[in-house]
Amino acid sequence: MSRDRVALFPASFDPMTNGHLDIIHRSLHVFDRLIVGLAHNVAKSGTFTVEERLDMLGAVLGDNDRIEITAFEGLLVDFCRRSGASTVIRGLRAMSDYEYEFEMALMNKHLNPEVETVFMMASQEYLYVSSSRLKELVRFGGKVSDFVPPLVEKRLREKLQPNG
Ligand code: ADP
Repeated sequence: MSRDRVALFPASFDPMTNGHLDIIHRSLHVFDRLIVGLAHNVAKSGTFTVEERLDMLGAVLGDNDRIEITAFEGLLVDFCRRSGASTVIRGLRAMSDYEYEFEMALMNKHLNPEVETVFMMASQEYLYVSSSRLKELVRFGGKVSDFVPPLVEKRLREKLQPNG
């Protein structure tokens, strides 16, 4: 009997970037279903509200029936149990990602040995793309159209360049 391979890609998506999208699309070549999990921390407010971030993800990822978009709070391994995901996908950009990701993967393994973390190397064109760097660029009038979908660029400008 074959069982669907379900993976979870957790991120803050504040906002989503083409780097995230690249990992999402590549994951769909490997897994049957992907849960795009918006990890949010009630104690930490982001640039965009959770609703705004979910709205952008929904608009860009559309009606792909292999993708489920949902927000979650609390421990990643608990959300894996609740959602039926046995694999967590993470992207690796640079050595600076590596140390944090390595520790997190080991801690999650300790908390739930059944959950495996799989890393994908960032694509070359998105190696230096992060949500925070793009927000900084937009604040100072920089162009981000190579790094985010047009809708996200529009929302970034509305949010971070209110007069301009
Ligand atoms: P946070 O960990 O603060 O939620 P992000 O939402 O940006 O940060 O990142 C979540 C996941 O997405 C991480 O695994 C990260 O490595 C991956 N990621 C973010 N940007 C990129 C990118 N440009 N290319 C590949 N992976 C990325």
